[in-house]
Amino acid sequence: MKDGILESMKRGTVLGDGGYLIELERRGHVDSGSGREKVGTGKGSGQFTPEVAIENPDALRELHREFLNAGSEVLQALTFFGTREKLNRAGYGSQTEAINAAAVRIAREVAGDAALVAGSVSRTQLFEREGASARDHVRDLFDEQIRLLRDAGVDCLILETFFHLEEMLVAIDCARAIGLPIIATMSFRPTIASCSDGHSPAECAKAMAGAGADAVGANCEQEPSRMLTILREMREAVSVPIAAQPAAFRTRDDIQCFTRLPEFPDGLETIQVARSAFEDFGRMAAAEGVRFLGGCCGCNAAYIRAAARGLANAKTADL
Ligand SMILES: [Zn+2]
Repeated sequence: MKDGILESMKRGTVLGDGGYLIELERRGHVDSGSGREKVGTGKGSGQFTPEVAIENPDALRELHREFLNAGSEVLQALTFFGTREKLNRAGYGSQTEAINAAAVRIAREVAGDAALVAGSVSRTQLFEREGASARDHVRDLFDEQIRLLRDAGVDCLILETFFHLEEMLVAIDCARAIGLPIIATMSFRPTIASCSDGHSPAECAKAMAGAGADAVGANCEQEPSRMLTILREMREAVSVPIAAQPAAFRTRDDIQCFTRLPEFPDGLETIQVARSAFEDFGRMAAAEGVRFLGGCCGCNAAYIRAAARGLANAKTADL
């Protein structure tokens, strides 16, 4: 895949990947933290951090290979929750540089010339813990991680799983200073009507695009069918490409985000959606304006392969 992400999104829907931390937790290489604390509040400490990149690189390498074989055109380096703040709370702060560099190196090894490598940047959790007064500290943390990702040689950045628009805008600002293409996806909890600081999907899309994101959308918390409502609202609001990285867990009308369901994190197997949900989503993606299609929690290579089939079937139907 020689073109950059922006050129590729102009030509059609680009297939990503996603769901690394949950999949590696299932395989025994990532700590969910559920044995020590209530997970899913956003205020946690050690759970779901990416130290597997230095502690068990072979496990991470293998999962990248599975996604590449399934058809992913963009591999996400496992740098999610890789700010020094979050890693500090997990006891890995002093290895922030090593974890970010190793994650990018491993993704690049597997991607070769066949896929692009994206650096993943997520929220610090400081807006949840301390409120907007943490803004300057948050900016320093994003500045540091995004520079580490640039130095490690990522092709683009995916800013994802932000619950507060204000924190996302800080991250976009730091990313813009680096000059790499930016895909920015907000997460909506507890309902799909607004993010944690009260902005609708349309408002989020406009603000992210206005701040300089090259593609905007949603990730995590909802399965494809429920996320579609968010994506349509965003598509109406902006002219930049739409990005979608849905979760593979079934939500409910009364609880519209999987991390607030009692099944998170230790009963997730019981709310897994069928991979056919991703095939259906792939089939409708282009018509819905989705130009970047990845996955999030619960997704694995089988889901990406299904999405690839859906994208291919949609193209055939167009001929
Ligand atoms: Zn997720």
